Amino acid sequence: MTRKLFVTTALPYANAAFHIGHMMEYIQADIWVRFQRMQREGNGLREVHFVGADDTHGTPIMIAAEKEGITPQEFVAKIAAGRAQYLDGFHIAFDNWYSTDSPENVELSQGIYRKLRDAGLIQTKTVDRFYDPVKGMFLADRNIKGECPKCGAKDQYGDNCEVCGAAYQPTELVNPFSVFTNATPVLKPSEQYFFKLSDPRCYTFLRDWLNTPGRLQPEMVNKVSEWLGEAGEKLADWDISRDAPYFGIPIPDAPGKYFYVWLDAPVGYLASLKNYCGKQGIDYDALLADPGTEQIHFIGKDIVSFHLLFWPAMLQFAGHPTIERMKVAVHGHLTVNNEKMSKSRGTGISPLRYLNLGMNPEWLRYYIAFKLNSRVEDLDFTGEDFVARVNSDLIGKYVNIASRCAGFIAKKFDGKLAASLSDSAMAWIKRALTTENGAERQANIGANFDQREFGKALREIMEVADIINQYVDENKPWVLAKDDSKTAELHEVCTTALILFRQLTVLLSPVLPGVAANVAKFLNDERYTWADTELSTGAVYQSMLGRTIGAYTHLMTRVDAKMIEDLFDAQNQIAAAGTAPAVKAEKPAKAEKPAPLAPLAPNDGIEPLDAEIKIDDFMKVDLRIAKIVNCEHVEGSDKLLRLTLDAGENRHRNVFSGIKSMYQPEDLIGKLTVLVANLAPRKMKFGISEGMVMAASAADEGKNPGIYILNPWPGAEPGMRIR
Ligand SMILES: [Zn+2]
Repeated sequence: MTRKLFVTTALPYANAAFHIGHMMEYIQADIWVRFQRMQREGNGLREVHFVGADDTHGTPIMIAAEKEGITPQEFVAKIAAGRAQYLDGFHIAFDNWYSTDSPENVELSQGIYRKLRDAGLIQTKTVDRFYDPVKGMFLADRNIKGECPKCGAKDQYGDNCEVCGAAYQPTELVNPFSVFTNATPVLKPSEQYFFKLSDPRCYTFLRDWLNTPGRLQPEMVNKVSEWLGEAGEKLADWDISRDAPYFGIPIPDAPGKYFYVWLDAPVGYLASLKNYCGKQGIDYDALLADPGTEQIHFIGKDIVSFHLLFWPAMLQFAGHPTIERMKVAVHGHLTVNNEKMSKSRGTGISPLRYLNLGMNPEWLRYYIAFKLNSRVEDLDFTGEDFVARVNSDLIGKYVNIASRCAGFIAKKFDGKLAASLSDSAMAWIKRALTTENGAERQANIGANFDQREFGKALREIMEVADIINQYVDENKPWVLAKDDSKTAELHEVCTTALILFRQLTVLLSPVLPGVAANVAKFLNDERYTWADTELSTGAVYQSMLGRTIGAYTHLMTRVDAKMIEDLFDAQNQIAAAGTAPAVKAEKPAKAEKPAPLAPLAPNDGIEPLDAEIKIDDFMKVDLRIAKIVNCEHVEGSDKLLRLTLDAGENRHRNVFSGIKSMYQPEDLIGKLTVLVANLAPRKMKFGISEGMVMAASAADEGKNPGIYILNPWPGAEPGMRIR
């Protein structure tokens, strides 16, 4: 049977930007998906559909939108527009990113509800709920405030106290009032719709479903079994309705009633898949009905009850075809310096700030992967540990192999690898890639990726790297290169090392997709698949022998400990918060007082300001975002680099810039910068310069001789005007 995978991550609530915990989950799922996509299946590669969406409905977003004077749809659209910079920034390759506020989700949620109703699993009960008599609406817990019944703190929400942390029912609040009108809420009977989780059919199904081997982590089976009780007596019916006004999906045949957000949120997984199938011309129903299709949800441990009780029961009794082939992979939380994340403060790490500091996203992917296993354990980000891990493994052990050997191939052998290898070189390859009992390490590494034991997989890959480095150290290509009689030996050593470096790259490619793409370019490779790592078939080395490779380009720099300081710098955190889309936290946090500003350093000689200008004067200078599509040295010039720029026009521009002292051409390629686009073209000794890129420099070169090119924050695109 052909395996097909439908993979999701938890849907983030669309009232805030992503935090580092989201990125951890996306990185985990993305690595797993990339590994699966490299696997052979039938005549090709495995089909994997990886989708996400924003979870949009419910009271918090309705209130937040009302406060901003916009519709909930507009509010959600604003948040959604900010997602790509994070996902692209960290190489998260979703096939589709969608929304629960979509026609597909309305159709699917209502369809599931109708089937549950037909199966006799929907029941109505009349319950007393708080009502605002002035506004004429039922109030959610968050719509009611009052004094905490435990500590007496004023202005606390109806579900828990932000001062003492107590949780309680809104009926327990002292002097409760409606947040809309300040009126005292009254209790009013309301007919509510319940999903009958207490029905014996649900217990019987869930017990068997949860205990199917391979479906869940053992610790999750234990935990959820406790919730079921001995015979399902602990399962309570679930209130799935909310009264209008509510931002949500109407319940069919129930005027004024909407689905509680948690009913339609997981259906959003299916809605995103269906939307994607529509765009790709894939038959959604046939895909789910295919007995080879597996459904896998990656989630955090905080939302287990929704995904392991309600969601499977809903799918089962609505006749969802993949329910028996559904798995849930639960992860722990990310702590930073051993501190739990705080909703109001976030963690000490802002993902956007990380990117804006120029930190390599693949450092974080590697570090998180190294710490991940298949269990439901929290993992901790510690700055020192991060620096040490990345620098030791990725730079010291991995990149170092190519940087020590590739240059000789270009310089001495016209870029051509040796056409054959001696027995001794082959013996080293075998030693690096097989275990003591002769098994191929790639099989074990692959099994660990498949089982989400990423840390184990990476540790074994680094053991391979250690052996390769031992080979290079023993054979010392830099010594061989000085002796003309050792040319053949040098050729073989560098060829062997690069063959093994390619092997490491393929093994690491689920974790480091960007680096792997650059290596593929430099080695003249096509897309990597797991079959490329097989030694028994010769795939590891055969196609490399005699191959011409491209010039080695620098693959990755070391982490500078200073970057970590900047990442954690509290002052900067406040500045960074301003870059996220304007959002309201679910619980509007008490405005945190910014730390007092540090006293300004005395003016020690910045350049005096120029004469004041009017905005019209400024607008005469047409500044545009430009992408550096190519950059090279200029023969005969020790100051200039030649830049080829894309400023969103139908042509490329040639610009010379005096920044050679600061940048290697390859550091700049692909980056965005700022171009003075309407500067008259200038004829220079080396050609015509069509504009000027902007850079900063100190008045006193003795203090700081650098020239620093400007680089816009993520999201800017070529051609955008700066105003
Ligand atoms: Zn309190």
